[in-house]
Order: sequence, then C-alpha cells, then structure tokens
Amino acid sequence: MNMMHHVIPNYGSKRLSLNTPCGTSARNRMNRKIGFIGLGIMGKPMASNLLKAGYELTVFDIVEASLKELENQGAKVAHSSKELAQQNDIVITMLPDSPDVEKAAFGPDGIFEGIKAGSTFIDMSTISPITTRKLAEAAKSRDVRILDAPVSGGEKGAIDATLTIMIGGERDVFNDFHSVFEIMGKNIVYCGGSGAGQVVKACNQILVAGVLESASEALVLGAKAGVDPEIVLKVIAGGYAMRVLDVRGPLMLKRDFKPGFKTRLHYKDLGIALATGSEYGVPLPVTSLIREMMNSMKTSDRGDYDHSGIITVLEGLAKFEVKKRPP
Ligand code: NAD
Repeated sequence: MNMMHHVIPNYGSKRLSLNTPCGTSARNRMNRKIGFIGLGIMGKPMASNLLKAGYELTVFDIVEASLKELENQGAKVAHSSKELAQQNDIVITMLPDSPDVEKAAFGPDGIFEGIKAGSTFIDMSTISPITTRKLAEAAKSRDVRILDAPVSGGEKGAIDATLTIMIGGERDVFNDFHSVFEIMGKNIVYCGGSGAGQVVKACNQILVAGVLESASEALVLGAKAGVDPEIVLKVIAGGYAMRVLDVRGPLMLKRDFKPGFKTRLHYKDLGIALATGSEYGVPLPVTSLIREMMNSMKTSDRGDYDHSGIITVLEGLAKFEVKKRPP
C-alpha cells in the first residue's frame, strides 16, 4: 500500500465532524435509517440483509422492478438519489462503475444535491480510486463523511452476508460503521485513507484474473494434449499453485528470495509447457510472458532466486521496491 502515498492523498486523522447524527459510536448505534442506491445482483441481497437486520431502509434504482422487489420486503422507495439523501443520514451506493457513481453523486437530482452536513456516504461499488478522491473532496467540502468500501465474494457472498469488505477513509468513520458492514460481510478490513479500499480491490482483481487466465491456459493445454481436464483441475486446484501465496507472500514482503524453487528451473518448466503448447497447437500468452520475465532474471544474476523473486522484475519496471511497512 506504499503506492497510496503516490496516488491517493490520505486525509489523515483530521476529522470532518464529530457533532453529527452519527458522529459517535453510541449515536451511530441509534441511527437505524439507511438509504441504499443500486439494487443489482449485489445491491439487492445486501439491501435485503440490512432490512432483515432491522434497519429502516429507503432504496433507489433506475430500474422500477428492483424497487418493487425491495418495497415488498418492507423498504421505502425514493424517487431520486437526491430525495433518498435528503431523508437519510447514511447513504450507501452499489453501482456498476465510476461514471454511474459520479452521475448518482454529482448529477441532477443526485446525492450531493440532497445530502445533509454530518451525513455519511459509503460507496461500496468497485470504482476508480481517482473517482473516489473526487467524491471525498466533494464530501469534505460539504461536511459529509465518506468511506470507499468495495467488496469481493460475488452474489453468493452478498446473499450469505459473507462478503470481504475493503474499506478506505478515516478510521473513526470506519469504526462507527463496523456494525453496518458486519451485516453484509465477514472479512471486514480497514485498508487506509480514502481510496485505499478501491486500491486493494484492484489488487484483488489482478490476482483473480491472473489465476483464472493461467488456469485456462493449463486446462486447454492439458485437454488438447490428451489428459482428462477434470484430472488436470483436480491436481492443480489441490496443489501448491493454490497455496503458493500463503507460503511465499510473507517472504516476498521480507524480500527473502532464498530458494525454494530456483527461477531458472521454473524457467525450464515453462519452456516445457510452451514446447508442448507448440506441439499441440495451444498458444499460452501469459505463460510466455512470465517465461520472458524469468529470462530477464537469469540474465541479471537472479536465476538462483526463488521463483517468487519475479516480483523484482516488476519492481524494476515500476522503479519501486515493495517493503513491509513498520507496524
Ligand atoms: P449490477 O449491474 O447487477 O447492478 C447495478 C445496479 O445499479 C442496477 O440495478 C442498475 O439499475 C443500478 N444503477 C445504475 N446506475 C444507476 C443510477 N445512476 N442510479 C441508481 N441506480 C443505478 O451490478 P452488480 O453485479 O450488483 O455490481 C455492483 C458493483 O459491485 C460493481 O461495481 C461491481 O464491479 C461490484 N462487484 C460485483 C460482484 C459480482 O459478482 N456481481 C462482486 C464484487 C463486486
């Protein structure tokens, strides 16, 4: 999270306002009214869980049918984001993308036209941390507290209230709303200043995409080379590949690249994979890219580093060294 210092201003410990309807934990506990905007695949079950937990919920979405569904469960319906924000001291958004959140926040009949000073705006959508920064600036100028709180765990996690929630913003605000997050998720992590939740979510998405793409390369290669893909999946999903981050992640932060498994041997193995792909007509684009990165390690005296030392190639490109922050 060192990059936070480069891209996201940390609003630090300067509190926006304590003298608010939800400015202390005790007061916050008494505030049982929430406005929720965005009732899609994720927002609908999250809003339902808040209702089930006894919150008085007002909802808004641009799709009428979704509003009806929540109304049938006991929610009140607002006619615009502005109206919703006028009626609630806590406003949650769960919208598709940055432009949607900007529109709901800054657009005509948007949140910032209605929200009162002292309210709290919690954006749970996955959006750009740059947009989050804009929202935070606008919120600050209106004496509104703000958190970015993107989630992972998918529709099932939203239904079962087992989402991972990654939160950026002031720690005091995070503390005040922990109990609200607990209704929607299980793994609730404070990540740092405004935008930090979105940065961590972006990091998470890199890993999810990478695992899925690499698994696809493995499955297509395995199957086209004549092995039952169910067996390939069983072996790779139950093997070291899925544990490698647990084993090597902490050592990467410590910059301990003692092998383990030497990079030059992994380079050799990826060569075998590429040659097999060539033989059976299976292009392996990401495997090939990773092999070239390992090649660069061999040519710069890092061939005997553990294969997790691949992080040093990225650090070189970024001119930035990842270090564990002191506690
Ligand atoms: P979705 O498209 O199903 O739902 C978005 C909802 O927002 C829709 O109901 C839409 O009508 C509504 N909406 C759009 N613009 C609006 C506006 N201006 N005012 C009011 N309502 C508006 O999306 P989703 O899958 O629920 O995802 C929501 C967010 O959560 C996204 O940022 C997504 O990346 C993230 N997310 C999704 C998943 C998943 O598995 N679906 C998992 C983790 C995070």
